[in-house]
Amino acid sequence: MEESLARDFIRAIIEEDLKNKTHEEIITRFPPEPNGYLHIGHAKSICLNFGIARDYNGRCHLRFDDTDPSKEEIEYIESIKEDVKWLGFDWGDHLYYASDYFEKMYEYAVLLITGNKAYVDDLSPEQIREYRGTLTRTGKESPYRNRPASENLDLFRRMKDGEFDDGACVLRAKIDMSSPNMNMRDPTLYRIKKVPHHRTKDRWCIYPMYDFAHCLSDAMEGITHSICTLEFEDHRPLYDWILDQLPVPCHPRQIEFARLNVSHTIMSKRKLGLLVEKKAVSGWDDPRMPTISGLRRRGFTPEAIRTFCDRIGVAKTNSVVDLALLEHYIREDLNKRAPRMMAVLSPLKVVIDNYQEDKVEWLDAENNPEDPAMGSRKLPFTRELFIERDDFMEDPPPKYFRLAPGREIRLKHAYYIRCETVEKDPKTGEAVEIHCTYDEKTRGGWSEDGRKVRGTSHWVSAPHALRAEVRLYDHLFCVPNPAEEKDIVQSVDPESLTVLDGCLVEPGLADAKPGDTCQFLRQGYFSVDADSKAGVKKRLVFNRTATLRDTWAKIQKKQ
Ligand code: ATP
Ligand code: MG
Repeated sequence: MEESLARDFIRAIIEEDLKNKTHEEIITRFPPEPNGYLHIGHAKSICLNFGIARDYNGRCHLRFDDTDPSKEEIEYIESIKEDVKWLGFDWGDHLYYASDYFEKMYEYAVLLITGNKAYVDDLSPEQIREYRGTLTRTGKESPYRNRPASENLDLFRRMKDGEFDDGACVLRAKIDMSSPNMNMRDPTLYRIKKVPHHRTKDRWCIYPMYDFAHCLSDAMEGITHSICTLEFEDHRPLYDWILDQLPVPCHPRQIEFARLNVSHTIMSKRKLGLLVEKKAVSGWDDPRMPTISGLRRRGFTPEAIRTFCDRIGVAKTNSVVDLALLEHYIREDLNKRAPRMMAVLSPLKVVIDNYQEDKVEWLDAENNPEDPAMGSRKLPFTRELFIERDDFMEDPPPKYFRLAPGREIRLKHAYYIRCETVEKDPKTGEAVEIHCTYDEKTRGGWSEDGRKVRGTSHWVSAPHALRAEVRLYDHLFCVPNPAEEKDIVQSVDPESLTVLDGCLVEPGLADAKPGDTCQFLRQGYFSVDADSKAGVKKRLVFNRTATLRDTWAKIQKKQ
């Protein structure tokens, strides 16, 4: 047999199917339940399903699995569409809702009943659970199991017509109460739920269960490969059983892969929703959230997320990916594209005593040493500047190469400066203003006489600098596996967000718009937050997307 060039076992199956002409066109789907915002785990499924459609000239449907009327909201549908598009994928005309198939699903259920493959059960939910048995104890048949088809048809119609209360009865498949696979022990197909649906309104008061709705939706859409996560492996016999009983247009192949788990965070819409509801975060798009909208707000790019999903691969066994790996890919991407800028997060004033008052020099500063095509900009240099408080020490320890009395450092893109005197707060003893001299023969940051300095600081011109708020983020949870914690809300690390007010950034950022990204020299990658405002109420807010320190690269080096 020819060796497959496929990148993963699912693509290998698809290539085999194409070679054998099992299918002419590959059709996949991404089927989210609209009960929350998408997270990075969904991104893996999106990249896989839409990626396969792209790679094999097929198509991928976006289908909302909106079979549970009590949980779904329009807001979630809109956010899911936005996130899939933002990730760079397009469903074209193929947007579907499972609820559009309710009529057809009802007809299929009637066919099952007619064929004696389904029955209406009057047992209470507790009794059904009891009768189902356990992994070690075989199940027991319901006394209603052998009702004649005519009676079942009548009862099912009356269920639909609203004659019975919620929970009074259900429609069950008639399969095998002694099957070792619990899913095959007469699973429930329909339940009564007198709740209006956001699309079908009060047309229905019975709703299909996931296992019934999913395989039928796939079949009706002509899906060739129904790719889902490993927990559905035990449902596959049921998926196949239902389709085998019915005259469906096609029988898609279900293939399972390992879901993505990421350390220090959670992959569950329900739990993430709880954080939002309890206000443990600012919203679904809080930059600490593992949601696509949170990552977007934080400054992640679709390219970085796609690369991450691509590189972690598709496997058959569950594992946990280190959050540092995701951060590694955003650094890799932003390193190439983010312009370098200067921002002082904790400002300390510097006065250059031998620099002419009122003079402004516009110095050249390259935008990205990784990419000369990104050009350069002009930076204003004046007598009064700000540097980072951490870049000065009155009494420096050995090997401290930054500014200290009598020491000389380089101001990036500007001049060498030497610290002459320090003005201190008489009460606290803290430095409030540093007086320096500059060497005019070091313009651009290089000395004509070859004199070297060990430290280089970033800075901003005091009269030109813009005030900004900077938000620094750490892992939302300090424990590596928060899913195991009893109280997810309590597990949120209160120190995961640090807000720095009174930061100063270079004037080139005056017109920065939400979503813009840059690297603040020595501080990390940042993006302009949605809270930023232009115009009279001008306000600049930055999110730190990632620090410059790449822990993942370090881990890899060690290995
Ligand atoms: P959640 O618990 O977050 O709601 P879910 O699986 O119930 O997850 P769905 O909306 O049903 O969410 O998922 C849509 C698709 O995304 C499914 O095909 C599902 O298998 C896939 N998916 C969900 N979570 C992950 C994950 N962590 N890794 C990979 N795929 C995932
Ligand atoms: Mg779900």
